[in-house]
Amino acid sequence: MNGVIAPYITTWSVEQELPSRLVERPGCGVGYADELLGDRDARGVLWQRPAVRHGVGKPEFGKVHPLRQRRAMRRLLCQVCAGPADQNDGGVLWLLRDHRGDWPEWPEGMACTEPPVCAPCVALSLRLCPALCCGAVAFRVRASEVAGVRGALYRSGRFGPVAVRDVNLAYDDQDIRWVVASALIRELRGCTFVPLAELTEGHAAVQLR
Ligand SMILES: [Zn+2]
Repeated sequence: MNGVIAPYITTWSVEQELPSRLVERPGCGVGYADELLGDRDARGVLWQRPAVRHGVGKPEFGKVHPLRQRRAMRRLLCQVCAGPADQNDGGVLWLLRDHRGDWPEWPEGMACTEPPVCAPCVALSLRLCPALCCGAVAFRVRASEVAGVRGALYRSGRFGPVAVRDVNLAYDDQDIRWVVASALIRELRGCTFVPLAELTEGHAAVQLR
């Protein structure tokens, strides 16, 4: 934890999206005019092209870096320190804003774009993350299958692809060929709440530097 000044998945000020021209691939959706192998994930989905200069400039809190989000989510790494997320028999640990009012079994079945956390980062996040200070919950997840992506949906336009709206799409959705992804989604199943006090005891002295 020492030396962490912003969560791992946070975008830094010099990590702007690289200028890229989107083109329509007849019958195949969207692609980059100068597309490279690394522009798509293993399932063939096109991703945003942010610069990767982690730690350079200033952190832009609240803005998530697509490729670090994808890495943390895919490998179940802590979104704060990038170490392994906490895991026990109850499942992998997540810390999110409390949205229990959204539906009765929340977060069961949730399409989640926030990577999990490790236990030492829970106390730190609660103290320093503005989004969590107004009510956060921790829970363990037994099954969190990689289900799809969040991204911008495009459609065919006269002068090239036109962005329509942001969507969550499953990997088996045909429209996914028309998406430029910005986040990987896991579907959360088998969720059990964990009292925050259980996680923060002994970690209260961790300092952000
Ligand atoms: Zn951590």
